[in-house]
Amino acid sequence: MDDNRPAVGRADILSMTLAELTEFVKDGLGEPAYRASQIYSWMQKGVMIDGMRNLPAALREKLKEKCEYRLPKIAKKLVSQIDGTRKYLFELIDGECVESVFMKYEHGNTVCVSCQAGCRMGCRFCASTLKGRKRNLTPSEILGQVTAIGADTGERVGGIVMMGIGEPLDNYDAAVKFLRLVSAEEGLNIGLRHISVSTCGIVPGIRRLAHEGLPVTLSVSLHASNDEERSSIMPINNKYHIAELMEACRYYFETTGRRVSFEYTLIAGKNDSSDDARRLASLIKSGMRSPCHVNLIRLNEVKETPFSGSAKARADAFCDTLNSLGVTATVRRRLGADINASCGQLRLSAAKDPE
Ligand code: SAH
Repeated sequence: MDDNRPAVGRADILSMTLAELTEFVKDGLGEPAYRASQIYSWMQKGVMIDGMRNLPAALREKLKEKCEYRLPKIAKKLVSQIDGTRKYLFELIDGECVESVFMKYEHGNTVCVSCQAGCRMGCRFCASTLKGRKRNLTPSEILGQVTAIGADTGERVGGIVMMGIGEPLDNYDAAVKFLRLVSAEEGLNIGLRHISVSTCGIVPGIRRLAHEGLPVTLSVSLHASNDEERSSIMPINNKYHIAELMEACRYYFETTGRRVSFEYTLIAGKNDSSDDARRLASLIKSGMRSPCHVNLIRLNEVKETPFSGSAKARADAFCDTLNSLGVTATVRRRLGADINASCGQLRLSAAKDPE
């Protein structure tokens, strides 16, 4: 892929499945297969080559010479005093930065990962897209965020949301490979049912994902209840209209049996009226005809954009309207409010970006 990170000419072993690593260890390094399991198991713990104690020194040297194995570097870490949410700014091999968030829920710890440095989807309220997309992340760079956080916190990660910087379905192959790696039994073994893939609505990607045999939760960023309103805040809607998007969501549910959830960011005076709520309810009921859930999020203000978040009372009223019309909805709790845990803003403010 031409827009992935600069080629370094060495094997990207963290992007490999155990089977691929085994082949590489045998054929590429001329070492016995069992070494692959040892290396693989260290990598899951975020241990670097020098720390792989059960490997002979000569093999460690050979690995360092022939392989590219690194974790994203923690450039900045913010820890919420309110709820223990941790936000990380990670620096990648070429100096690009991405963000990840570690969140503590009653049902377990969840990590929010980024899949691109920047984003080219252009959603008008989002900080991640303001400077466009620099490049795609490799599977190892996405997985590395999870292992680096596991190593830093010392805690087990039980769930993943692909809701950080970037559009997973615009980096399709790497996103799918990441899902296979992170859910592998011999790897971090994170249940696919505890993984959500969030998309702004790339219809062909949704249809393709339905056939990967990966029963993840599809989370669709809807944010509006008609095409005019949606196109005015999400350019992707000019390409794939709401009707087509809802059809793809239905297809995803019918093919995978997995419930689809919708994200709806409440923007004051833009998409948060009672009429909007009623239109949204009828859109979802007629469009889905299957169990689904609406997550309401009050917009996190981004100073470069003209929008502001709805008041709490408006969000609650919007939620009540949806529920009273038979659409299950909840207003998402704001985690890490004191550290601005919404993605994209830390990267934007990082002095690393020269423009
Ligand atoms: N590209 C994917 C995933 C990344 S964004 C997608 O669009 O779904 C994750 C979620 O955060 C999306 O629902 C996105 O619309 C939302 N979001 C972006 N900027 C936001 C902001 N300023 N306040 C609240 N939610 C925001």
